[in-house]
Amino acid sequence: MCFRRNRACGARDKNRRIFLLTLRILDFDYISSILFVMFFSIKKCTVLHTSIACIFFAAASLLPAQIQEITPPVPPAVRAVVNAYKNEQLQAGYDIERRDWVIRVPTADGAALFYWAGGRLLPEELLDEADSYRTLVYPYPTEIPDPANFTQEDIARYSRSGDTENRRNAPLQYPGFLDAIYDSATQASIEEHIQTVLFLGKYVTVHEKIVEPLERVEEKIAQRARTDAETAEFVETLSRTDGYLWREIRDTGSRSFHSYALAIDVLPEGWGREIVYWNWEKNKGNDEWMLIPLEDRWIPPLAVISIFESEGFIWGGKWGIWDNMHFEYRPELILLQQYSGQQS
Ligand SMILES: [Zn+2]
Repeated sequence: MCFRRNRACGARDKNRRIFLLTLRILDFDYISSILFVMFFSIKKCTVLHTSIACIFFAAASLLPAQIQEITPPVPPAVRAVVNAYKNEQLQAGYDIERRDWVIRVPTADGAALFYWAGGRLLPEELLDEADSYRTLVYPYPTEIPDPANFTQEDIARYSRSGDTENRRNAPLQYPGFLDAIYDSATQASIEEHIQTVLFLGKYVTVHEKIVEPLERVEEKIAQRARTDAETAEFVETLSRTDGYLWREIRDTGSRSFHSYALAIDVLPEGWGREIVYWNWEKNKGNDEWMLIPLEDRWIPPLAVISIFESEGFIWGGKWGIWDNMHFEYRPELILLQQYSGQQS
């Protein structure tokens, strides 16, 4: 309270109104507002004191508000990307103006920035046309989609996504993020980084950055084969392992993960007589390729699929557009699956 009627007290009363106004603007909570006013009511105050205190409290209350604005909780998918590529030292930030996450990828000549854009990872100049790109980071299923459980809508959706004309006009995958990590913008640059290695007794050409995870996959499969007959048979009857190939995905303008040297196709002996890949079945005239029962398709042993997944590879048999020979190094999708599992 102001006991002395003097100029300082008059000034203080005025400034206290300013405080209260400031507090309201800054949305200070009610109790701290009362404590704050009580504190200044019992102190001998001057305009200077009041002003200093005002600045201090304004700054203190503004700071958390700004931090909250700058860093909303990091979405699991953004965390998955940053954590999946630990050696690349990616950083995530938040653009307040764009209200979107940005991932910074260090490159040989500085750094590249990619906006999240719903998992599309686009440079700023492409954000206005984000819809014409498809998502790079998407939920990877834990289970193999089983046609026995498909609804009519599922069937129609798979049929549409397998349609040749739709695939030609489908959104492209923007390659910049992967190119920044794997130096894969051109055939010449990616070929500076590929290595041919032995995998389960067959030669395969892959990106140098996945040689180690692939070695771990091989070790785990070899160990499993000692006690598991199905895995042992998979290894013994393996006929081909196809890795790097500079090419576009069939019927689309997007580059295949084989072009990044991040994908491996594994095929068993006699694969020509097996049902392995949706598009081969469709080309035989089977428009109901999505309904081919799982038990009729060639599927690597589940133990082998889990081993690949444990080292950051996804398996193409879990896509609606199934490709059962295809494994692809996507550690961010595996991490995202783990994070999503922890949440539910
Ligand atoms: Zn493939």
